[in-house]
Amino acid sequence: RTVYVNGDFLPEEDARISVFDRGFLFADGVYEVSTVLEGRLIDNEAHLIRLQRSLDELKMGCPVTKDELVELQKELIRRNNLVEGGLYLQVTRGAADREFGFPRDAKPSLVMFTQVKNLINSPVAEKGLKVISVPDIRWQRRDIKSVGLLAPALAKQAAVDAGADDAWMYEDGFVTEGSSNNAYIITKAGVIVTRHLGNEILHGITRRSVLALAAENNITIEERPFTLEEAADAAEAFVTSATTFVTAVVSLDGKQIGSGKPGPLANRLRQLYIEQALKS
Ligand code: PMP
Repeated sequence: RTVYVNGDFLPEEDARISVFDRGFLFADGVYEVSTVLEGRLIDNEAHLIRLQRSLDELKMGCPVTKDELVELQKELIRRNNLVEGGLYLQVTRGAADREFGFPRDAKPSLVMFTQVKNLINSPVAEKGLKVISVPDIRWQRRDIKSVGLLAPALAKQAAVDAGADDAWMYEDGFVTEGSSNNAYIITKAGVIVTRHLGNEILHGITRRSVLALAAENNITIEERPFTLEEAADAAEAFVTSATTFVTAVVSLDGKQIGSGKPGPLANRLRQLYIEQALKS
């Protein structure tokens, strides 16, 4: 693989980053993952707007302009001949002697790499996900896409250890989101319920697209918190993220949701989302 590090395209084994980089020492950095389909970036503009917001919230600079960033992304896709998968990009506050306060002279650092993945024909999406619930132990600014991902990594591993695929995190009895996706249920009346935007969840780019598609198709949406009990009793459930699109959830804590198979509305939304992405 060819990766990008602070101005250079390099074979991954030649890439270097300082041990004093604050991303490494403090998780003082933010990231984005954009989807690549047919060699093209999907919804990239929205990802870069969210990146800028994360940077602004942390008073962090970016070493390149937005237009330069897009050119670098495209160049990395070309150099890796990436057809389908993800493009990860990360900006950290840069390298400086280890002090908690922000260094005055550190130069932000930018790294990017690609991941090949079968996103459209995903075996996981066909089967649907088994999820377990875990307490949400993350910090209180989950709207910032920070590289501090230990809590979701622990949640995901707890799921794997339990023989499941993913974890839904909850707080005060209400589901916040999945370990790396937004969480939804569909009630028996056919209403999509997903948590409202705030500091408690990441404002998913896929969430926005899928809710817009649902609205266009006259599906009722309620943006509000829902409980684990409500989820267990739902007709269907699903998650969204850039690299999983819409993926059905078929069980929660070992109890099947609806038929125990990916539901018709989740399947339809997945189809609508993929069609729109391929046309864009
Ligand atoms: N929530 C969390 C916690 C995530 O990590 C992600 C994926 N980065 C999402 C939601 C989904 O966001 P998006 O649709 O922008 O990929």
